[in-house]
Formats: sequence, structure tokens, C-alpha cells
Amino acid sequence: MGKKTISSDFSHRYKRPAASPTPNSSSPSINLHFLSHSLPLTSLSLSLGAMAQTTPNHTQTVSGWAAHDTSGKITPYTFSRRENGADDVTIKILYCGICHTDLHHAKNDWGITMYPVVPGHEIIGIITKVGCNVTNFKEGDRAGVGCLAATCLKCEYCQEGHENYCDEVQFVYNGIFWDGSITYGGYSEFLVADSRYVVRVPENLAMDAAAPLLCAGITVYSPMKDNNLLETKGKRIGVVGLGGLGHIAVKFAKAFHHHVTIISTSPSKEKEARERLGADDFILSTNAEQMQSKKRTLDFILDTVSAHHSLGPILELLKVNGTLVIVGAPDKPVDLPSFPLIFGKRVVKGSMIGSIKETQDMMEVCGKHNITCDVEVVSSDMINEALDRLAKNDVKYRFVIDIAGGSSPSKL
Ligand code: NAP
Ligand code: ZN
Repeated sequence: MGKKTISSDFSHRYKRPAASPTPNSSSPSINLHFLSHSLPLTSLSLSLGAMAQTTPNHTQTVSGWAAHDTSGKITPYTFSRRENGADDVTIKILYCGICHTDLHHAKNDWGITMYPVVPGHEIIGIITKVGCNVTNFKEGDRAGVGCLAATCLKCEYCQEGHENYCDEVQFVYNGIFWDGSITYGGYSEFLVADSRYVVRVPENLAMDAAAPLLCAGITVYSPMKDNNLLETKGKRIGVVGLGGLGHIAVKFAKAFHHHVTIISTSPSKEKEARERLGADDFILSTNAEQMQSKKRTLDFILDTVSAHHSLGPILELLKVNGTLVIVGAPDKPVDLPSFPLIFGKRVVKGSMIGSIKETQDMMEVCGKHNITCDVEVVSSDMINEALDRLAKNDVKYRFVIDIAGGSSPSKL
């Protein structure tokens, strides 16, 4: 395999700290010196891999599942986690959702994967240990962890509660924690997490069906909130791509009393989308006539598509001044023609997951409206099959791994 450089816009978010780990894993003094983006990823991986293995307080052995190369094949993998620090909680993982981002990472679609990668950022379980500084959680609590593992805590975005946009954000897997170790995600039996990045899970939500809220849920909730769709009713909203993110977007939009149109490549999804998810309209995006007949009908569109596509036809569906928010992260740039932007004074913007406060707020909203995801629970020996089916767009609508095995899903 040729040497890869970190070059795409998306991978810019994944900065690497220099190899000078701080001694205490729970210290918020994040390392501010970053390696050059042009450093070949292969040498980067090697140096960081060596560093992670020698991190002194990583004394806990964990069983998990990792991808080791671009085949994306997942195999059992034993690794170490840090001891539970003063600000940490330890979570026995019960369920972990399979996000398309896991697939992108397992196959190194974005050219940034540090193998072996233990994916999983839709993590839900029970707290088994709390550090001495942790006041808001106790043993036995239901807890959720999404994408965030560490942020600088000092920049304007961290201070204003938008820490997901911190320039030094580190993710729950394929990231670098404060102690310099590589982070490993939720395809594993337990997690040690800084309690700042942990949320509570309302008692009325089934644990398996709530797990995908930690990424899919917050990723669609945050831009809806940002665009005032929680307060105002009756807007005409489009959701492009009816997958993990898309289906929960439909549920939120309906709970907030909007008119929802699904824009999909899959005719087979129409009946169920209307009857079960409550979608008001369904446009087959591969049908030019249908797309043409719905021009200028929507106020807001959320694009959740994981593969390369053109934004032109989607933009045409927006009214003048309408907004398209991109959350899907294809490996190649999407086509963005200027004419539909100019002729409709339309706005295109992006959005990445949400802050911890927003995630907790979303959890409460889900508790109140009894919103969970439509999931297919799989055992840990079916992860590869699930990833293959996800790649083929064959899931309604989210796979969730029964990590603890044998748990009674909907009763937890
Ligand atoms: P998913 O379950 O696979 O859903 C993606 C949907 O996109 C599919 O169900 C399909 O819907 C549509 N699609 C797939 N291939 C397509 C193609 N070639 N052309 C047009 N549409 C296609 O994936 P997901 O877990 O929802 O994630 C979606 C994307 O969001 C991924 O790229 C993921 O990495 C990204 N993501 C971003 C964030 C963020 O913070 N911004 C967070 C999480 C995930 P139809 O069958 O209806 O067409
Ligand atoms: Zn995700």
C-alpha cells in the first residue's frame, strides 16, 4: 500500500498530538503541539501505536473487535485501557450501534485510519466505577457515550458549549486521548470515559434502540435545533438518504410537527417510510420527473448520504433562501454547482454531531416523546455480516451489537 497523507478537508479535523504524553490520563492539559498534516500516515501510525502501548497506566485488559487493514474485516482484539481516573467513569458496554462512519474507518475510506481500529461511537451501558471528582454519575446508572473523547476545554467553542467544534477535538476511536494514547471505541466490553463526555439515558428508553441516538440521533437533532426547527412547526423538511441518520431525522421532524419528505434512491423504502415512520412524501431521487415536479417545495433539507452524489438536483428542491445541511461524509467531494445556489439564494452548510449538552437535551426529548431508533440487534460474531449489509444499503435502519451478549434487549 502506498503512503497516504492526511489531506482531505474532513481529515483535517483529525489532528495528531506530538509524542509527549502527559503522565495522568485524566489531566485536561491537552497536548497542543500537533504534527504536520503532510506527515505520511503510515509513519504516524507506527509512532503513535508504539506510544499507546507504553502508556503507563493502561493496565486494564479489554476484549473487543477491531479492523486491521483496508479489507475492513473485524476480528476479536485484546487491548488495554487506562485505569479509571479521577474524572472518569467506567462503563460496562451493553450495546453499540454500527454507524456508517465505522464502515468508513474500518475500510480507511477517508485515508486517516490508524489500524488496528476498534470502531463504535454509539455506546450505551451501565456505570461500574466513578472517579473521585465525578459527582453527576454513580455506579449502576445508565450511561451513553457518543463520538467525543476529549476537547481542549479552553477555546471559545469549548467555553461556549460547542466543544464538538473544538479544533483539538479527539474522538472515541481513532483519536488521541490527553495521555497520548490512541482511543478505542465501543466494539468492546467496557470503556473508560471522561465523565464530561458521558450522558444519562432516560429510564423509559430501551437500551438497544437508544444506542444509535448517541451519534445518528444527535447528528440530525443538532442541525434541526440550530435551524430553529424545534420551536417552529409546519416547515417543509426534506431528508436525503433513509438510513441510520435519515430515519431518526424523520422521527424528530415528525415529533416537532413538520411536513417531511424523504428523498431516496430506494423505491423499496417508500411504503414503510410512509406507513411506519410517518413520512408525508417520498421522492425517488433517481426519477428526474419526480424531482422536477417537487422543485422549490422545501424549506430545509438534511443530506445524510454516505456516497458521492451531486447537490445540484437536491438544491433545486429548496425554496428561495432555503438551507441544505450536509451531515453525510462521502470520501470524495460532492458536486456543488453554483447556479442552483445563485438562482435560489440558497445556503449550504455542514454540521458535526453535537455538543454534550445538546446530546443530553436530545436524550430528554427522546425520553419525553418516547423516540428511539429502529434497530436490528446482532451478536458480536455477526459484526462483519452487519458491516457488509450496511455497505449494501441493506438495513432498516441501524444495526446494534449486543456487546454483553444474551441481554434481553428491549427490557433493559
Ligand atoms: P447509512 O445508514 O448507510 O445511510 C446512508 C443512506 O444514504 C442510505 O441508507 C441510502 O439511503 C443513501 N445512499 C447510500 N448510497 C447512496 C448513493 N450511492 N447515492 C445516493 N444515496 C445513497 O449511513 P449513516 O450511518 O446514516 O451515515 C450516513 C453518513 O453520515 C455517513 O457518511 C457517515 O459517515 C456520516 N456521519 C456524519 C456525522 C456527522 O457528524 N456529520 C455523524 C454520523 C455519520 P436511500 O436508500 O434512502 O437512498
Ligand atoms: Zn456515527
